[in-house]
Amino acid sequence: MSVKFFFDSNVDDAAKLLCHEYWSYVSPSNYIRHLNKLCYDYDVSPKDLFTNLAKCQAYLDEIHCEYCGLGYRLDVPADISYIKKQEFWFCDGCINFSGGQLIVGR
Ligand SMILES: [Zn+2]
Repeated sequence: MSVKFFFDSNVDDAAKLLCHEYWSYVSPSNYIRHLNKLCYDYDVSPKDLFTNLAKCQAYLDEIHCEYCGLGYRLDVPADISYIKKQEFWFCDGCINFSGGQLIVGR
């Protein structure tokens, strides 16, 4: 299962590398240590780290909404191991549209 990235047009190569490394985190290793190492390696503050990450949208290319086919957008790396355990997934838009009749992964 691989992560696909979409970057803002003003993101430079260093920031892209940073995002790639951020998403290479594998749970259950130490998430805080992972963040600290990124800040150290790229010489950025935690605030700048998250500012950078906000310019990057990460998707899992093999997980799509069961109803509309939308890609699964990741918020935090821990989402990856979570969503792998789900049999299927519906996006927020479809859940809202269905008035709650569709339910996130069972
Ligand atoms: Zn959907």
